[in-house]
Amino acid sequence: MTKEITDKLFVVMLRGGYRCWINKEQKEALENAILSGKKFVKVDEYFFNANNISFILPASEIEREDRVKRGDWQCEYCGRWHPKGEECGCQRGIY
Ligand SMILES: [Zn+2]
Repeated sequence: MTKEITDKLFVVMLRGGYRCWINKEQKEALENAILSGKKFVKVDEYFFNANNISFILPASEIEREDRVKRGDWQCEYCGRWHPKGEECGCQRGIY
């Protein structure tokens, strides 16, 4: 179960803001189908209308966006994330 979640490293953004998490193989299958001009793409349990896909991007990008929306911030020196108002405490990346 855990593996199933962690290997879904990509997010398909659909029109209307719906997000669909997929793994690398699914992403490649989806991309290849879209690039070959298919309008409808079946990837395992998913059935996509290619016209409704806004973009495909790494899940890390989405997580980053979600964190920024929540008000979290990332220390530019050490890269750690913190809740709003919390200080990092590192000295320019040195603890
Ligand atoms: Zn820091």
